[in-house]
Amino acid sequence: MANYVCSVGMEVHAELATKSKMFCRCQVAFGGEPNTRTCPVCLGLPGALPVPNRAAIEMVLKTALALNCKIAMNSIFHRKNYFYPDLPKGYQVSQYGEENPLGYHGYLDIPTADGGTKRIGIRRVHLEEDTGKLMHLPTGGSGVDYNRAGTPLMEIVTDFPPDISNGDEAKEYMTQLRQILIYLGVCDGKMEEGSMRCEPNISIRAFGTDELGTKTELKNLNSFRSVQMGIAFEVRRQAAVLDAGEKVLQETRGWNEQRESSFAMRLKEAENDYRYFPCPDLVPMQFTEEYIESLRANLPELPLAKFRRYTDDYGLSEYDANLLISDVKWANWFEEAVNQGGDPKSICNWMSSDFAKMLNEEGKSAADSKITPKHLVELTKLIADGTISGKIAKKVFADAYQTGKMPGDLVKESGATQITDDSAIKPIIVEVLAANPEVVERYKSGQQSVKGFLVGQIMKQSQGRANPGIVNKLLDELLQEV
Ligand SMILES: [Zn+2]
Repeated sequence: MANYVCSVGMEVHAELATKSKMFCRCQVAFGGEPNTRTCPVCLGLPGALPVPNRAAIEMVLKTALALNCKIAMNSIFHRKNYFYPDLPKGYQVSQYGEENPLGYHGYLDIPTADGGTKRIGIRRVHLEEDTGKLMHLPTGGSGVDYNRAGTPLMEIVTDFPPDISNGDEAKEYMTQLRQILIYLGVCDGKMEEGSMRCEPNISIRAFGTDELGTKTELKNLNSFRSVQMGIAFEVRRQAAVLDAGEKVLQETRGWNEQRESSFAMRLKEAENDYRYFPCPDLVPMQFTEEYIESLRANLPELPLAKFRRYTDDYGLSEYDANLLISDVKWANWFEEAVNQGGDPKSICNWMSSDFAKMLNEEGKSAADSKITPKHLVELTKLIADGTISGKIAKKVFADAYQTGKMPGDLVKESGATQITDDSAIKPIIVEVLAANPEVVERYKSGQQSVKGFLVGQIMKQSQGRANPGIVNKLLDELLQEV
């Protein structure tokens, strides 16, 4: 196989998390009885007039700002004309042009394996409406469901020539983008339900050449993994075609998840003539600097910035930081605990172990549980100052999880404070040694490993309350004496 360089352009569609559709008041939802969320506007009946959804426009502007885009202060909607049964009006309301989309000429920085970042140029972020869905009927033939028609849809397209050069980077781009959309609250990011869809176009060219090769477009990718695998597969497939002295066809290909391979769907002929023109039913959008700046000022901290802060300032591992930021509510919970004086590493450890385990078992989120950040801060402080042992803490946490009582109160009630007093621990050790003379003999004859057994017995006798460090120290001393 000759050496090839790969280029990947990404076209991502995200359904906006608005309550109602783009130009009418029909509800936005997933699934449901076909054609139950429709009206004359989203069915495109003659005479019905659209009214733009302000919330949807604001969501696209926020996304464009988060993706470092320029904002079109005057922006219009266009009609994209084509005939297909899932498009009741015979056109799709969209946005056309280089500097007319709500956001244009931005970028997204993605983390790289060496701890740095790579900048991925964004060509445009625009607003359009979703189509209906064609479905095969059990009785034969096809039907169309317009429940989805007119749902606000945001399209995010990367720059040309593409900056992404392999499947791993494409996956990282999708991961970052999805997290940003969720952090902004503009899309639920559910790829499996189609609320976030991705169509990469892939081309390869010989190493050392500049001219981009013929590209193929991949469809039906419904997970990060399929994005990564699909692109890697296409690179291998195209390389084999070129190595065999043949030409890559410009086509749209589907992805078969089970077989992990792509298949030809249709040849892409010359670019369709959509005859875009400004939509006469919709007034131009105009924004003031003041409005845009207020949106910019209210953007939340974005995932990558959060990740860097957690690893650099809090000293968390990349794994732990990723676990926290993957869910913005979980990250906020963590930060609240840290703001209340919790030690970041201890809080994170408890969150990702006992707390996460208990929540998972009940399918609950942190907000539904009786544990508040204050509980965890108090618990970790009780451990840090030696009041309770780590073992007792697990029991206290479980009790707090069940009852909602504060850890300090639970410790007082049970008297489970840690014993750190030599004079209280010594008698327990003496008793254990007296009860296990044969073990002591074995230790003295050089079998050091039996010490663990003795420690275990002592901890058991003290109901887990003896400080392990002191137990070890005193046990060594006493073993010398016997
Ligand atoms: Zn409607």
